[in-house]
Parts: sequence; C-alpha cells; structure tokens
Amino acid sequence: MLKPTIGLEIHFEGKTKSKMFCSCLNNPEEKEPNKNVCPICLAHPGALPTINKEAIEKIILAGLALNCEIQNYSRFDRKSYFYPDLPKGYQISQFDFPICKKGHLDIHLDNGETKRIRINRIHMEEDTARLSHEGGSTLVDFNRSGVPLMELVTEADIHSAEEAKKFAQELQLILKYSDISGANMEKGQMRCEVNISLSETEELGTKVEVKNLNSFKAVEKSIEYEIKRQKELIENGESVKQETRGWHDTKQITMEQRSKEDSFEYRYFPEPDLPPLNISNEEIESLRVKLVELPNQKRKRFKEEFDLDDKSIEFYINEPDLANYFEKSVSELDCWKRDKDCMKDGSIKLCSNYIITDLQSLIKNDSDFDKIDKKITPENFAELISMIEKEEVSSNIAKVILTEMYNTQGDPSNILKEKGLSAITDDSEIEKIINEVISENAKAVEDYKGGKDNSFMFLLGQVMAKSKGKINPQKAEELLKKII
Ligand code: ZN
Ligand code: MN
Repeated sequence: MLKPTIGLEIHFEGKTKSKMFCSCLNNPEEKEPNKNVCPICLAHPGALPTINKEAIEKIILAGLALNCEIQNYSRFDRKSYFYPDLPKGYQISQFDFPICKKGHLDIHLDNGETKRIRINRIHMEEDTARLSHEGGSTLVDFNRSGVPLMELVTEADIHSAEEAKKFAQELQLILKYSDISGANMEKGQMRCEVNISLSETEELGTKVEVKNLNSFKAVEKSIEYEIKRQKELIENGESVKQETRGWHDTKQITMEQRSKEDSFEYRYFPEPDLPPLNISNEEIESLRVKLVELPNQKRKRFKEEFDLDDKSIEFYINEPDLANYFEKSVSELDCWKRDKDCMKDGSIKLCSNYIITDLQSLIKNDSDFDKIDKKITPENFAELISMIEKEEVSSNIAKVILTEMYNTQGDPSNILKEKGLSAITDDSEIEKIINEVISENAKAVEDYKGGKDNSFMFLLGQVMAKSKGKINPQKAEELLKKII
C-alpha cells in the first residue's frame, strides 16, 4: 500500500518592536506603504545590519516551548537569489548553525491518539518586501522588508492531512500564547509549505513541495489533493516529477510552478557583516522561566482541576480570554471559596456552560472577549450561577438577567428585584395562574381529556407564558396535571 510521508516548513514573523537588522518599526498593521524604512531594510549598498536582541529572545522562547536544544553557538548566512522583493540579492538567514535544533510537539488526533512530531530545526532570518500587482504594474512595499522571520522545519514524521493541519494549528496556539508571533495566517504572519511523497517501502518516494498555503484548510486540502494525484500517477505506471507546486485556492488544486531543473543554487556563505551568536546557558535559563503555560499544560490542568469534558476544554484552549474569565468566575463561586472542591457540585459545569453558550453569544466579536470582565464582573457572573443552582431563577429568566447584566453592568440580584423577575414558588399562586388558564381555554382542556396529548403541552405553554417564565417548568407540569 502506498503510504504518504509529509514534512512541513513553516515561516512565522516575530512580534518585536523593531525589525531584525535595523531600528525601523515592525508594525504589521501599517497601512501607508514604505513608511517604516531605512537604508538597511531598503538594501542600500554599504548599509550595515545589527542583530535585534528581542528577536533572538523570541526564537529562543519558541525553541524552548517546542522542546528544542538551544545552540550556544550559531551564526547568520547569506542565501543568494534574485527576486524583486529582495533588492539585496540575498536574504540573511541561517544555514548550518541554526539557533534551535531537535525539538518535538505532541498533537492530539480526532481518534483520541496523541502523536509526537519531531522538529528538525528553527532558524532566524528576515522577511522580504511585499509585492502587489495592480493594473498591469507591480508595486513594492518595504514595510515588511527585514521583519524578523523564523523558519521551522519538521522531520518527515507526518503521514496524513489531519496530522499536518493539527501540527500547524497547535504551533499557532503556542506562538500566540507565548507572544512570539501574531501567527495570523490570513495576514501572512504564518505561512506553510508541505513536502509530500508516496512510497510502498521504507525508502521515501519522489518529493513534491507545495507552496502558498495561507490557511489550515489549504494545508489539509492540498495534501489530500497531492496524495490522490501522486497515487493515480503511480498506479498508472507513470512517475512523480520532483517539483515545486502552488496551491490554487479557488480551483482547489495544486499547479506546477517549477521543476527540479530550475531549482536555485543559493550559494550560502557566512554573513560577513554580522558576528556569530554566542548564547550562554544562563541566558537560556533566564528565558525558560519566562515561558507561559502552554496549551498542552492547560489541557491537563483544566481536566484535573475542573473535570471539564474534552470539547469544553478545546473551546477554552482556543479562546484564552474566556478561559481566564472562566477561571476567575469559578474562584468566585461559593463552593470554590468554601473548600476548593466543586467537583461534586454542579456549579463548575453550569458556570462553564453559561460562558460557552449564553455569554459567548452576547459578546459581539472575538476582540471583545478580553474586555468581558469589564461588562460583567466574574463576581456578578458567579452570583448569577449560584442563583440558577439554587433554583431562585429559571434558565429562561437567567438569560434575561444575563443580557441585562451585559448591557447595564448591573448586579444580578438587583436586576431580579427591579424587574420583578423572582421565581414564583408559592403553590397557591401557581394554582391561581393554572386555574385562569383552564377557564380561558375550555376547548383545549376538553381535547386533552378526550386523549389529545398535544393539548396538554399547549396548556402548559400558556401557564409558562402567563407567569412570564417565572415558574419552574417541572413544577408547573406537576400542578397542571393534578388540577385537570
Ligand atoms: Zn530599516
Ligand atoms: Mn525561509
């Protein structure tokens, strides 16, 4: 059977104040073209680069977060090639002495398995200018020229489109958590390339490289497409050509870009304008303590501390602002304050469910997630959860109160009083409402007695509506049955 073997090369831009080799601002949001430029990043002859310390710290952090060995000795090299977005005629990169080597990342597959993907290296380089093609001419914007760029290369440990996509997604989470890169794929802050070959034996088949993958979907679809294309070629007795292909997102196919014959000879040699890097163990250790809690650690802790289901945990892993809010709210719950053991109590799950469903749908967009505690304090949110838990409010009323809390930043018990939303718990008051409904709907009562179950649901609905949802539905059903 033909088995696919896949390797990934992923570039990501460093989130630093200034560019890699000059003091120009590294601002990916800059709209005005060629604003953040100087003789160094414009490639004027004779301009001398200097190394950005913050960028080196970011790549070391990336290496540590990805379990790499950080090299004490490392250096920059010139990678020569011609392209209009690179007027120097070479990119400053790293060839045989990258900063990070031999790492790994554990990914979680849909079938529940965890798989370790080894990382060959992560090296430091610079981004190129950005070209835009407009009305038959091409414009060059140098704002991106010289922005710190890190390149990660995996071992060929990946064997499916799902594994490749999961690796890229997990990497993006780590880069965002650690503030190493914005890692936004639509904005080009993170870019993927895949190598795919098919073989029946241990020996690898002919490798095809696919470029221009600007979304996780493109990573997945291009691999699926290549596996199918190469399989058909091999099964028809034809051979797979070693080449570079591009992903065509509209057509959902890969297309030939260049064959092996016109592949570049980069003529790498040590960059004479920059000293080699000597990174001491002390520096490495001082960065290791700056590592934040990473997604895999958070998954484990959320399971142990809060006993949430995997789907909820994955939600919080992808929405760290709401995860923080969840944790703050839990710490305000009565049971948590009492003995920190809320496990047997349903409050934690209730709290989580209200965040994932109701609270999330109230918030307009992702960028507001980090400001949610200004709208509804975790203390007030926890209070509402306790009110639901103690059945002081029904779930319908809780939704009304939550919306009001969001709009007015109010306290739930005040809103409850002001709006007269308190639950009706007195049986005689409930019976009074039921009797009214019965006398107003004589026909439905007859129908129900004649065997129409639907009529009972109709009557129950009338009771709930008349009470404005302030009666516990089970209670209403019980009393209605009794009275009829
Ligand atoms: Zn510059
Ligand atoms: Mn590169």
